Amino acid sequence: MSNAAGVGGTSSSFPTANTVAEFTRNLADVRGRIDAALKRAGRAPDEVRLLPVSKTVPEDRIRLAVAAGCTLLGENKVQEAKRKWRNLSDLDVQWSVIGHLQTNKAKDVAEFAVEFQALDNTRAAEALDRRLDALGRQLDVYVQVNTSGEESKYGLPPDEVVAFLKTLPNYGALRVQGLMTIAVLSSDAERVRPCFRLLRTLRDEARELDLVGPGELSMGMSGDYAVAIEEGATCVRVGQAIFGARNLPDSHYWPATAEGPSELPVDGGPAAK
Ligand SMILES: *Cc1c(COP(=O)(O)O)cnc(C)c1O
Repeated sequence: MSNAAGVGGTSSSFPTANTVAEFTRNLADVRGRIDAALKRAGRAPDEVRLLPVSKTVPEDRIRLAVAAGCTLLGENKVQEAKRKWRNLSDLDVQWSVIGHLQTNKAKDVAEFAVEFQALDNTRAAEALDRRLDALGRQLDVYVQVNTSGEESKYGLPPDEVVAFLKTLPNYGALRVQGLMTIAVLSSDAERVRPCFRLLRTLRDEARELDLVGPGELSMGMSGDYAVAIEEGATCVRVGQAIFGARNLPDSHYWPATAEGPSELPVDGGPAAK
Protein backbone atom coordinates (compact mmCIF):
# COMPACT_ATOMS: atom_id res chain seq x y z
CA MET A 1 0.00 0.00 0.00
CA SER A 2 2.96 2.29 0.47
CA ASN A 3 3.62 2.24 -3.21
CA ALA A 4 0.61 3.21 -5.20
CA ALA A 5 2.60 3.64 -8.36
CA GLY A 6 1.23 0.38 -9.67
CA VAL A 7 0.28 0.01 -13.23
CA GLY A 8 -0.56 3.52 -14.04
CA GLY A 9 1.73 5.96 -12.31
CA THR A 10 1.36 7.78 -9.03
CA SER A 11 -1.50 9.78 -7.69
CA SER A 12 0.99 12.62 -7.29
CA SER A 13 0.15 13.40 -10.89
CA PHE A 14 -2.78 15.22 -9.28
CA PRO A 15 -1.25 18.48 -8.08
CA THR A 16 -2.67 19.92 -4.89
CA ALA A 17 -4.46 23.23 -5.28
CA ASN A 18 -3.61 25.71 -2.55
CA THR A 19 -4.77 28.97 -4.05
CA VAL A 20 -7.86 30.17 -5.88
CA ALA A 21 -5.78 30.43 -9.04
CA GLU A 22 -4.67 26.81 -8.70
CA PHE A 23 -8.26 25.67 -8.24
CA THR A 24 -9.25 27.70 -11.26
CA ARG A 25 -6.50 25.98 -13.24
CA ASN A 26 -7.44 22.46 -12.10
CA LEU A 27 -11.12 23.07 -12.76
CA ALA A 28 -10.40 24.41 -16.22
CA ASP A 29 -8.16 21.45 -16.91
CA VAL A 30 -10.83 18.94 -15.90
CA ARG A 31 -13.52 20.79 -17.86
CA GLY A 32 -11.24 20.79 -20.88
CA ARG A 33 -10.81 17.02 -20.62
CA ILE A 34 -14.55 16.59 -20.18
CA ASP A 35 -15.19 18.63 -23.31
CA ALA A 36 -12.59 16.65 -25.25
CA ALA A 37 -14.18 13.35 -24.20
CA LEU A 38 -17.63 14.63 -25.17
CA LYS A 39 -16.31 15.67 -28.53
CA ARG A 40 -14.67 12.29 -29.14
CA ALA A 41 -17.98 10.65 -28.30
CA GLY A 42 -19.90 12.96 -30.61
CA ARG A 43 -21.90 14.37 -27.71
CA ALA A 44 -22.97 17.95 -27.07
CA PRO A 45 -20.67 20.14 -24.95
CA ASP A 46 -23.08 20.68 -22.07
CA GLU A 47 -24.15 17.10 -21.49
CA VAL A 48 -21.99 16.43 -18.44
CA ARG A 49 -22.25 17.94 -15.00
CA LEU A 50 -19.02 18.10 -13.02
CA LEU A 51 -19.47 17.29 -9.33
CA PRO A 52 -16.30 18.23 -7.42
CA VAL A 53 -15.67 15.82 -4.53
CA SER A 54 -14.16 17.48 -1.47
CA LYS A 55 -13.89 14.54 0.95
CA THR A 56 -10.92 14.81 3.34
CA VAL A 57 -10.22 18.34 2.13
CA PRO A 58 -10.03 20.84 4.99
CA GLU A 59 -12.48 23.69 5.13
CA ASP A 60 -9.96 26.45 4.45
CA ARG A 61 -9.12 24.87 1.09
CA ILE A 62 -12.77 24.27 0.31
CA ARG A 63 -13.25 28.02 0.67
CA LEU A 64 -10.72 28.52 -2.11
CA ALA A 65 -12.51 26.01 -4.34
CA VAL A 66 -15.80 27.80 -3.81
CA ALA A 67 -14.11 31.09 -4.63
CA ALA A 68 -12.95 29.43 -7.85
CA GLY A 69 -16.54 28.63 -8.77
CA CYS A 70 -17.64 25.36 -7.13
CA THR A 71 -21.30 25.60 -6.10
CA LEU A 72 -22.06 21.95 -5.31
CA LEU A 73 -19.64 19.63 -3.52
CA GLY A 74 -19.72 15.86 -3.08
CA GLU A 75 -18.86 14.22 0.23
CA ASN A 76 -18.61 10.52 0.94
CA LYS A 77 -19.23 10.49 4.70
CA VAL A 78 -22.33 12.00 6.29
CA GLN A 79 -20.64 13.26 9.43
CA GLU A 80 -17.87 15.04 7.57
CA ALA A 81 -20.39 16.53 5.15
CA LYS A 82 -22.55 17.79 7.98
CA ARG A 83 -19.63 19.43 9.74
CA LYS A 84 -18.60 21.20 6.53
CA TRP A 85 -22.18 22.26 5.78
CA ARG A 86 -22.35 23.87 9.22
CA ASN A 87 -18.96 25.51 9.21
CA LEU A 88 -19.25 26.80 5.65
CA SER A 89 -22.83 28.00 5.87
CA ASP A 90 -21.68 31.53 5.03
CA LEU A 91 -20.74 30.30 1.53
CA ASP A 92 -22.97 29.87 -1.49
CA VAL A 93 -22.41 26.12 -1.81
CA GLN A 94 -24.62 23.03 -1.61
CA TRP A 95 -23.84 19.45 -0.62
CA SER A 96 -24.27 16.13 -2.36
CA VAL A 97 -23.81 12.94 -0.33
CA ILE A 98 -22.23 10.28 -2.53
CA GLY A 99 -21.34 7.59 0.03
CA HIS A 100 -23.13 4.81 1.87
CA LEU A 101 -25.88 5.89 4.25
CA GLN A 102 -26.38 4.26 7.61
CA THR A 103 -30.06 4.50 8.44
CA ASN A 104 -29.37 6.38 11.65
CA LYS A 105 -27.85 9.21 9.61
CA ALA A 106 -30.87 9.66 7.35
CA LYS A 107 -32.04 12.55 9.50
CA ASP A 108 -28.82 14.45 8.84
CA VAL A 109 -28.90 13.89 5.10
CA ALA A 110 -32.55 14.97 4.99
CA GLU A 111 -31.54 18.15 6.75
CA PHE A 112 -28.58 19.40 4.77
CA ALA A 113 -28.13 17.55 1.47
CA VAL A 114 -29.60 18.59 -1.87
CA GLU A 115 -28.73 15.26 -3.46
CA PHE A 116 -27.98 11.68 -2.40
CA GLN A 117 -26.21 9.46 -4.90
CA ALA A 118 -25.78 6.17 -3.03
CA LEU A 119 -29.29 4.83 -2.49
CA ASP A 120 -29.13 1.04 -2.52
CA ASN A 121 -31.60 -0.36 -0.02
CA THR A 122 -35.18 -0.08 1.12
CA ARG A 123 -34.43 0.80 4.72
CA ALA A 124 -32.45 3.85 3.64
CA ALA A 125 -35.23 4.88 1.23
CA GLU A 126 -37.82 4.57 3.98
CA ALA A 127 -35.77 6.41 6.56
CA LEU A 128 -34.90 9.25 4.19
CA ASP A 129 -38.47 9.61 3.00
CA ARG A 130 -39.79 9.80 6.55
CA ARG A 131 -37.21 12.36 7.65
CA LEU A 132 -37.73 14.46 4.52
CA ASP A 133 -41.49 14.41 4.96
CA ALA A 134 -41.10 15.66 8.50
CA LEU A 135 -39.07 18.59 7.18
CA GLY A 136 -41.32 19.22 4.21
CA ARG A 137 -38.38 18.63 1.87
CA GLN A 138 -37.66 16.56 -1.21
CA LEU A 139 -34.32 15.12 -2.27
CA ASP A 140 -32.80 14.17 -5.62
CA VAL A 141 -31.53 10.60 -5.43
CA TYR A 142 -29.47 8.26 -7.58
CA VAL A 143 -29.61 4.50 -7.15
CA GLN A 144 -26.13 3.03 -6.71
CA VAL A 145 -25.34 -0.13 -8.64
CA ASN A 146 -22.42 -2.47 -8.06
CA THR A 147 -21.25 -2.89 -11.64
CA SER A 148 -17.83 -4.29 -10.80
CA GLY A 149 -19.08 -7.39 -9.03
CA GLU A 150 -16.65 -6.73 -6.20
CA GLU A 151 -18.07 -7.83 -2.87
CA SER A 152 -16.55 -4.87 -1.14
CA LYS A 153 -18.51 -2.30 -3.06
CA TYR A 154 -21.81 -0.88 -2.02
CA GLY A 155 -24.61 -0.75 -4.51
CA LEU A 156 -27.34 -3.05 -5.73
CA PRO A 157 -26.53 -6.09 -7.81
CA PRO A 158 -27.49 -5.27 -11.41
CA ASP A 159 -30.28 -7.83 -11.50
CA GLU A 160 -32.06 -6.20 -8.55
CA VAL A 161 -32.11 -2.68 -9.91
CA VAL A 162 -35.42 -2.73 -11.78
CA ALA A 163 -37.31 -4.29 -8.87
CA PHE A 164 -35.84 -1.73 -6.49
CA LEU A 165 -36.71 1.17 -8.78
CA LYS A 166 -40.29 -0.08 -8.90
CA THR A 167 -40.59 0.46 -5.14
CA LEU A 168 -39.38 4.06 -5.17
CA PRO A 169 -42.65 5.74 -6.18
CA ASN A 170 -43.78 4.73 -2.66
CA TYR A 171 -41.43 7.34 -1.29
CA GLY A 172 -42.84 10.65 -2.38
CA ALA A 173 -40.02 12.77 -1.01
CA LEU A 174 -37.40 11.02 -3.13
CA ARG A 175 -36.98 12.35 -6.65
CA VAL A 176 -35.22 9.66 -8.65
CA GLN A 177 -32.71 11.20 -11.04
CA GLY A 178 -30.79 8.20 -12.32
CA LEU A 179 -28.15 5.59 -11.54
CA MET A 180 -24.69 5.85 -10.01
CA THR A 181 -21.72 3.49 -9.98
CA ILE A 182 -18.07 3.18 -9.00
CA ALA A 183 -16.21 1.18 -11.62
CA VAL A 184 -13.54 -1.37 -10.85
CA LEU A 185 -10.46 0.50 -9.63
CA SER A 186 -8.10 0.15 -12.51
CA SER A 187 -6.10 2.41 -14.74
CA ASP A 188 -6.92 0.16 -17.68
CA ALA A 189 -9.71 1.77 -19.69
CA GLU A 190 -10.80 -1.55 -21.07
CA ARG A 191 -11.39 -2.93 -17.58
CA VAL A 192 -13.48 0.01 -16.39
CA ARG A 193 -15.46 0.44 -19.60
CA PRO A 194 -17.70 -2.64 -19.12
CA CYS A 195 -18.84 -1.27 -15.74
CA PHE A 196 -19.99 1.96 -17.36
CA ARG A 197 -21.64 0.12 -20.24
CA LEU A 198 -23.55 -2.04 -17.81
CA LEU A 199 -24.87 1.01 -15.96
CA ARG A 200 -26.02 2.57 -19.21
CA THR A 201 -27.76 -0.63 -20.29
CA LEU A 202 -29.59 -0.78 -16.96
CA ARG A 203 -30.56 2.86 -17.30
CA ASP A 204 -31.93 2.26 -20.80
CA GLU A 205 -33.94 -0.69 -19.56
CA ALA A 206 -35.32 1.26 -16.60
CA ARG A 207 -36.08 4.28 -18.72
CA GLU A 208 -38.15 2.20 -21.06
CA LEU A 209 -40.29 1.29 -18.04
CA ASP A 210 -40.32 4.94 -16.96
CA LEU A 211 -38.72 4.07 -13.62
CA VAL A 212 -35.70 6.32 -13.52
CA GLY A 213 -36.78 9.93 -13.94
CA PRO A 214 -34.55 11.77 -16.39
CA GLY A 215 -32.19 8.79 -16.40
CA GLU A 216 -28.97 10.50 -15.39
CA LEU A 217 -25.79 8.42 -15.27
CA SER A 218 -23.37 9.36 -12.49
CA MET A 219 -20.17 7.55 -13.33
CA GLY A 220 -16.51 8.42 -13.65
CA MET A 221 -13.95 9.69 -11.12
CA SER A 222 -10.51 11.30 -11.42
CA GLY A 223 -8.94 8.20 -12.94
CA ASP A 224 -11.66 7.19 -15.36
CA TYR A 225 -14.07 10.02 -16.13
CA ALA A 226 -13.01 10.31 -19.76
CA VAL A 227 -13.98 6.68 -20.36
CA ALA A 228 -17.24 7.18 -18.46
CA ILE A 229 -18.13 10.14 -20.66
CA GLU A 230 -17.47 8.11 -23.77
CA GLU A 231 -19.93 5.59 -22.35
CA GLY A 232 -22.66 8.12 -21.65
CA ALA A 233 -22.00 9.66 -18.22
CA THR A 234 -24.08 12.76 -17.47
CA CYS A 235 -22.43 13.44 -14.10
CA VAL A 236 -18.80 12.83 -13.20
CA ARG A 237 -17.62 12.91 -9.57
CA VAL A 238 -14.09 14.25 -9.48
CA GLY A 239 -12.03 14.74 -6.34
CA GLN A 240 -8.29 14.33 -6.71
CA ALA A 241 -7.97 15.92 -10.13
CA ILE A 242 -9.40 19.13 -8.67
CA PHE A 243 -8.24 19.16 -5.05
CA GLY A 244 -5.04 17.12 -5.33
CA ALA A 245 -4.02 13.58 -4.47
CA ARG A 246 -5.38 12.07 -1.27
CA ASN A 247 -3.06 10.26 1.09
CA LEU A 248 -5.55 7.74 2.37
CA PRO A 249 -6.02 4.48 0.51
CA ASP A 250 -9.35 3.81 -1.13
CA SER A 251 -10.11 1.18 1.51
CA HIS A 252 -10.76 4.10 3.81
CA TYR A 253 -13.75 5.16 1.73
CA TRP A 254 -15.06 1.78 0.72
CA PRO A 255 -14.34 0.08 4.00
CA ALA A 256 -14.52 -3.53 2.98
CA THR A 257 -12.13 -3.11 0.07
CA ALA A 258 -9.27 -5.56 0.22
CA GLU A 259 -5.96 -4.15 1.32
CA GLY A 260 -3.27 -3.73 -1.22
CA PRO A 261 -2.09 -1.21 -3.72
CA SER A 262 -4.88 0.16 -5.77
CA GLU A 263 -4.28 0.67 -9.40
CA LEU A 264 -6.15 3.86 -9.28
CA PRO A 265 -5.52 6.82 -11.28
CA VAL A 266 -3.10 8.38 -13.19
CA ASP A 267 -4.69 11.05 -15.02
CA GLY A 268 -8.16 11.99 -16.02
CA GLY A 269 -6.87 12.31 -19.49
CA PRO A 270 -7.92 10.74 -22.70
CA ALA A 271 -7.27 7.27 -21.41
CA ALA A 272 -9.50 5.70 -23.97
CA LYS A 273 -8.54 7.10 -27.29
C1 LIG B 1 -13.99 9.81 -3.54
C2 LIG B 1 -15.10 9.54 -4.44
C3 LIG B 1 -15.10 10.01 -5.76
C4 LIG B 1 -13.97 10.84 -6.33
O1 LIG B 1 -12.80 10.09 -6.42
P1 LIG B 1 -11.47 10.83 -6.95
O2 LIG B 1 -10.50 9.73 -7.17
O3 LIG B 1 -11.06 11.75 -5.86
O4 LIG B 1 -11.84 11.57 -8.17
C5 LIG B 1 -16.19 9.72 -6.56
N1 LIG B 1 -17.22 8.99 -6.11
C6 LIG B 1 -17.27 8.52 -4.86
C7 LIG B 1 -18.45 7.74 -4.43
C8 LIG B 1 -16.22 8.77 -3.98
O5 LIG B 1 -16.27 8.30 -2.74
